[in-house]
Amino acid sequence: MICPKCGEKFNYYEPCCPWCRAPKPVEEWNPAGDVSPSEEKEDGSDVIDPSQSTGFSIFVLVFYVGTLFLGLFGLTFLIYVLAVIFLCD
Ligand SMILES: [Zn+2]
Repeated sequence: MICPKCGEKFNYYEPCCPWCRAPKPVEEWNPAGDVSPSEEKEDGSDVIDPSQSTGFSIFVLVFYVGTLFLGLFGLTFLIYVLAVIFLCD
């Protein structure tokens, strides 16, 4: 990075300019500040994951109940068909 005071190049991890001891420009800290909110957003997405798993469990429950009713209906239909066949005989 370039010192805003003396214009000399120095490493960004230096706490201040080694040439004129000027503090680092505030603009260089903003990208690092932008990194932590994105990490917080990733943490927020992690918070959303349990609700998504809850929605998935509800979906599984609805699918299970639907399959149960469908199987019950199929079984009732099968018994009805068998009863009709035996009653016709
Ligand atoms: Zn400097």
